[in-house]
Amino acid sequence: FFFFFFFFFPTFLPSQFSRTLPLTGIPLAATVAFSLSDLSRCSHSLTLDLAAMATSAFGTTTATSNYRNGGAANARNLPKNSSVKSKTGVRKSAPGSLGGGGAASSSSKDDAGVPGRVRVAVRLRPRNAEEMVADADFADCVELQPELKRLKLRKNNWDSDTYEFDEVLTEFASQKRVYEVVAKPVVESVLDGYNGTVMAYGQTGTGKTYTVGQLGDEDMAARGIMVRAMEDILAGVSLETDSISVSYMQLYMETIQDLLDPTNDNISIVEDHKTGDVSLPGATQVEIRDHHSFLEILKLGEDHRFAANTKLNTESSRSHAILMAKLVVVDLAGSERIHKSGSEGHTLEEAKSINLSLSALGKCINALAENSPHIPVRDSKLTRLLRDSFGGTARTSLVITVGPSPRHRGETASTIMFGQRAMKVENMLKLKEEFDYKSLSRRLDIQLDKLIAEHERQQKIFEDEIERLTAEAERQLSDAERNYVQALEKERSKYQKEYLESIKKLEEKWIMNQRKSVNDENKLRHKDVGSNVLPNAKESKVAPMEENPEMKKLLEKETAHRKAVEEEVWTLKTQLAESRRSEALQSSEIVKLRKMLDDEAHQKEKLEMEIGKLQSHLLQLSVEADETRRQLDSGGSEEVLSGLDSLLHQPRQPQSDNSETGDKESVAKLFEQVGLHKILSLLEAEDADVRIHAVKVVANLAAEEANQEKIVEAGGLTSLLKLLISSEDETIHRVAAGAIANLAMSETNQELIMAQGGVRLLSNTASSAEDPQTLRMVAGAIANLCGNDKLQMKLRGEGGIKALLGMVRCRHPDVLSQVARGIANFAKCESRASAQGVKAGRSLLIEDGALPWIVQNANNEAASVRRHIELALCHLAQHEANSRDMINGGAVWEMVRISRDCPREDIRSLAHRTLTSSHSFQAEMRRLG
Ligand code: ADP
Ligand code: MG
Repeated sequence: FFFFFFFFFPTFLPSQFSRTLPLTGIPLAATVAFSLSDLSRCSHSLTLDLAAMATSAFGTTTATSNYRNGGAANARNLPKNSSVKSKTGVRKSAPGSLGGGGAASSSSKDDAGVPGRVRVAVRLRPRNAEEMVADADFADCVELQPELKRLKLRKNNWDSDTYEFDEVLTEFASQKRVYEVVAKPVVESVLDGYNGTVMAYGQTGTGKTYTVGQLGDEDMAARGIMVRAMEDILAGVSLETDSISVSYMQLYMETIQDLLDPTNDNISIVEDHKTGDVSLPGATQVEIRDHHSFLEILKLGEDHRFAANTKLNTESSRSHAILMAKLVVVDLAGSERIHKSGSEGHTLEEAKSINLSLSALGKCINALAENSPHIPVRDSKLTRLLRDSFGGTARTSLVITVGPSPRHRGETASTIMFGQRAMKVENMLKLKEEFDYKSLSRRLDIQLDKLIAEHERQQKIFEDEIERLTAEAERQLSDAERNYVQALEKERSKYQKEYLESIKKLEEKWIMNQRKSVNDENKLRHKDVGSNVLPNAKESKVAPMEENPEMKKLLEKETAHRKAVEEEVWTLKTQLAESRRSEALQSSEIVKLRKMLDDEAHQKEKLEMEIGKLQSHLLQLSVEADETRRQLDSGGSEEVLSGLDSLLHQPRQPQSDNSETGDKESVAKLFEQVGLHKILSLLEAEDADVRIHAVKVVANLAAEEANQEKIVEAGGLTSLLKLLISSEDETIHRVAAGAIANLAMSETNQELIMAQGGVRLLSNTASSAEDPQTLRMVAGAIANLCGNDKLQMKLRGEGGIKALLGMVRCRHPDVLSQVARGIANFAKCESRASAQGVKAGRSLLIEDGALPWIVQNANNEAASVRRHIELALCHLAQHEANSRDMINGGAVWEMVRISRDCPREDIRSLAHRTLTSSHSFQAEMRRLG
């Protein structure tokens, strides 16, 4: 039985320029774990024989960095020489592939892969209770030397065989440490975009399931690799944009059953003939939101597995569990031979079938380790599913588990040998890059929602401000009016009071005067009788005369007051008029603001319409992406239909009941008419995120040959070149350069790129870039241009060769491999031109100083670099004009080495022919004896 889980988490990754890379719609699956565990624990006879085999491998730096496979993410941690030596001599790397079509077979194409050996750790289980008793008198059959990374397998009391592994984990090693050493580097590289495998192999009862599948329900510290891997994956992705799905299956006697849907009991393996990718599209996928939901799925699967096994009357003990997520965690079947475990009620046929997958795996590993031309990958479902894990493109860690018991020495020895052979298997790691339109759509949706919310907030602030201003103005106005009325009233009452008072005073005075004059008259009348008339008469005449000036004064004062009041009234009246005017002004201001508000609302409506359009367009893109993915996954029409079905849940297209082809055409058409231009216009979007996504979309489209012409026609190439200058963003540079590299595969486009000054733009990008992946894309683009016969002079004139050589400052093998490819392409064109008599004189590569680097790297440890340089040397050596420089530069030795040691027969014989046909080289070889 095998159990599979698939994780799937799309992430945004740049496109790839090499056509050999799998740029398909296949889900970025997953972690795989197999377990075929717990064979019946019958005891076996005790054997204590020892054999010695010394091995030496990596050994200097820390376990974690050593353990991690080589590749883009951590090439600096790679040990200098990744081959492993054994007593029998230096072992060559084994570039074959379970999947075929590996590095060795793709000679002219550039696969942009990075070599990385399968890493193997050995873990010893502590003695269990039974062994404590039964083996009490015997020493363990293995002895570990973790600091030397060695395992000694006892042959007898005085002799043992020694084996070296990448990591040696003692019986005290914690689950955490095992995870960190064995699986974490693989999980990290999965998050970086590689496929990865972690696999456990060993005899039943030695701890495969404990290592890989332990849930740790009761003891946190006992959590195994699957659970910890999921924790790290969940921590490493953002669920806002990425998703993780899990499938859970079991394989028994070459039949795959879905453990999340027990009725689905015969899932077929689908292989993409173009890319060689393997998938299981029939399996149920459940999306994981958090760790809890993952554990639920594991438990549900376990329950169904139990039920399925009961129904089939099979033992769950003979089961593999596979967890796929781009990362393959494998808990394999017990490795003991079937006849030994025997007697389980199986017929011979059943027994063969149960063991078929495991023995097929062993055969493939052997074939790979021996560098055999034929890898029997098709012999079983297990090897078909794992074709990428051994000799393929995944990073692979193998943990072999052994028990201490001397009774099982034979099995332990065979497990160790399996591990030793696996250490010889080399993979070509490739970034698994795929563009996920659904995520883009989700991202843009989030972006739009943020913008809409922001707009709404701004509008609210604006409206509040207007309201506040209006209220303020009204308040001021009414204040002014009130103040005016109050002041007017005060003034009026003040003057009225004064006026009345003065009138009253005047009246009083007048009355007093009246009285006085009456008195005086009376007195006068009295005195007329007496004498003294004159003075009195005089007096009475004087009084009114004295009175008059006073009255006059009072009256004058009164008049002045009146005038003042009148003036005051007038001033207040003008003030009132003034404030009336300003009130009018303010209300016209309010009208203006209201109009602005209306405009704003109108603008918003327009924006919303635009958003709606964009959303529907995104939906269309998702439809297309889904459809393409499903087609690529399966090549079957069923999946296409079901893909469309799933889209029907989204409120869309009334034409959903159209025929399949009609739908497809309309999507394609829409993409052509609206999509491409819209996407290209997004390259200039203001939002940097949108720009980055747009360039990624363009890059992915550019990776498909079918789209390239359309992209160039729509001005996409020009826009991409522009981005190299206009943008400062390294991601944009990287992705744009990748897209340009893709487009630079056709001759017409190469000419267009040259004509638009592309070489200078790429050179500038190269000189400022730091990220190896950016440099790799730029180097890839220039390397493609290097392969155009017509552009040689111009390319060199504009500094293309110098730019390539400048990029070797980044020692990353991906970059070096592209530089080497460019040089090989250039040399090949030159060689052609020389042969046709079009070109004379030294190679421009030599003129530009490339030779020292070529010679230094002719034996580079990365096969992809070496291969190109070997070819470049052969081309250069064909022309007498280069021979002096080559001899002085030490290239002859490299040629000799290539002619003898190159594993590629064609290059080897080319080097040999070249050497023997060149007089200068012959003379030099004679001179050097
Ligand atoms: P396998 O899957 O290889 O058949 P299991 O993982 O089921 O083996 O382990 C067999 C038994 O040994 C289990 O009871 C398990 O708990 C125990 N065991 C295995 N490895 C260890 C270990 N490193 N430390 C403690 N117990 C272990
Ligand atoms: Mg097991």
